[in-house]
Amino acid sequence: MEVERKEINVDALKSANLPIIWILGGPGSGKGTQCDNIRVKTGFCHLSSGDLLRNEVVSGSKRGLQLYKLMEMGELVPTQVVLDLIAEAMVQEVYGGKAKGFLLDAFPWNLDQADAFVARIGQPKKIIYLSLEQDVMIDRLLARGNFDDNRETIEKRCANFQNQTRPVLEKFKDLVTRLDANRPAEEVTADILPALA
Ligand code: ADP
Ligand code: MG
Repeated sequence: MEVERKEINVDALKSANLPIIWILGGPGSGKGTQCDNIRVKTGFCHLSSGDLLRNEVVSGSKRGLQLYKLMEMGELVPTQVVLDLIAEAMVQEVYGGKAKGFLLDAFPWNLDQADAFVARIGQPKKIIYLSLEQDVMIDRLLARGNFDDNRETIEKRCANFQNQTRPVLEKFKDLVTRLDANRPAEEVTADILPALA
């Protein structure tokens, strides 16, 4: 299944040279929570690839329909297509003129996405790794109780994180700040803020 590509001119994004932060961690480590907190405190823009994909599907565009078919079959969306969406959203933010920087929530998910992001958009300024024991992740997600948060899918997502995302943290280790995520959210936020400088 082919998904339509979209040419995104990233010149404006590159010349704006805003800080880009990757927020990584296992499922339930608090990425979304921390991105919200940091956005409010810094004016950085919070981008979630999952939200961008869902929004494109809901928009009813031709590309959205192609994405829907892939996602419905449980297939991975090609890296360059996810990057089209992220690049497009980042460029829009630059033209909007308000964003002070970018928080990428759970992106890049694997080395392929990381390398493609660097090639097309550039290096992140920093990577925040929210470190949390698997038992605590599972407890939090079971408590959150989303429809796809059962023990089996959670364990699968934890294993994916170890196999897929861990290599990103290793390859870019010079940029990584590892934080203990097993603390109240406000405490974690207070540690992220100085790590962004
Ligand atoms: P992620 O985006 O990494 O999957 P979320 O931010 O969605 O994680 O958080 C998962 C669940 O854990 C949510 O119910 C959230 O309210 C809760 N949570 C997030 N951060 C903390 C924290 N520091 N302490 C306790 N619970 C938290
Ligand atoms: Mg999340």
